[in-house]
Amino acid sequence: KYILAIESSCDDTSAAILFNDKVLSNVVASQEIHEQYGGVVPELASRAHQQNIVPVVHQALAMANIDKKQLSAIAFTRGPGLLGSLLVGTSFAKSMALGLNIPLIEVNHMQAHILAHFIADENSARPNFPFLAMTISGGHTQIVLVKGYFDLEILGETLDDAVGEAFDKSAKLLGLPYPGGPLIDKYAQQGNPNAFDFPKPKVDGLNFSFSGLKTSILYFVQRETQKNDSFIKENLYDICASIQHTILEILMEKLAMAVKQTGIIQIAIGGGVAANSGIRARLKEAEENLGWKTFIPKFEYCTDNAAMIGIVGYLKYIEGDFSNQAIAAKARYAIDG
Ligand code: ATP
Ligand code: FE
Repeated sequence: KYILAIESSCDDTSAAILFNDKVLSNVVASQEIHEQYGGVVPELASRAHQQNIVPVVHQALAMANIDKKQLSAIAFTRGPGLLGSLLVGTSFAKSMALGLNIPLIEVNHMQAHILAHFIADENSARPNFPFLAMTISGGHTQIVLVKGYFDLEILGETLDDAVGEAFDKSAKLLGLPYPGGPLIDKYAQQGNPNAFDFPKPKVDGLNFSFSGLKTSILYFVQRETQKNDSFIKENLYDICASIQHTILEILMEKLAMAVKQTGIIQIAIGGGVAANSGIRARLKEAEENLGWKTFIPKFEYCTDNAAMIGIVGYLKYIEGDFSNQAIAAKARYAIDG
């Protein structure tokens, strides 16, 4: 079965073609316009999606070398995300499915970040049910108990900022461009993770909090630059390494707690922050030291992409779980809802 998948929840317009669980093409058009504003401007994002969606879909079809008449279904991101952005993908998917007279399949973006692990790939194993998933992205930080493809239970989540936001906001305080997460990762690799100490939040259970970290970094930067105005420049690598180290400690501590609580040692991560080289290294370490079995998606399936929407589309297609033309985008859409 050929499935066209469309993702437009935030600032990336993406289209993918899957043949069953295999990805034939996965085109992502990122929007550079937001860089100068230090964050995503929703109005500009919807406009850019509007411009990009037709060429991106055409390119995905061309790269997969198939004609739109061969498509069996169209999957799209219904939510969660920016409403204006979601509307572009939703409307496009609805009209195209109507025009081709094929089924329409709605997909929850956060489920897709987890189910990306089921994309066919000779080089990586798939987790078995039940497993623990930690979704670490620009808008979410959750530990999820995955009992089946569509049987998910949130065990813990952030009470304030998401971990990706913590990376991006810290980067902004250091004067780095948006999105700063990948830059902190890059500079951290050349710095000393123990150079500076940032406090870790005290949050009970499996919930997270990242807003306090941002505040303490703000005060730290203000205090140090008052003494030496080129403090950031002179210590950039060490500051980035220390920030990243603190964030990774928080994530690993909660994961260890979830493993202890559930007795499950299969851990899958997903979402943009899963692209971070530090978290990848820490999970590999846990495999060796703690006997965990860890699953890390391919780099291109971590940040927003339509291939992950396509795999959910395929899994729903097999079950005959289709949507009707009255379906509407949903800015807030719980992973277990
Ligand atoms: P959500 O999936 O919650 O709706 P989103 O789709 O905006 O949010 P993603 O695209 O999944 O988020 O992830 C983007 C986030 O990942 C950004 O905050 C970005 O800084 C972060 N990120 C990407 N690569 C890295 C990296 N190597 N290290 C740290 N953070 C990273
Ligand atoms: Fe995402």
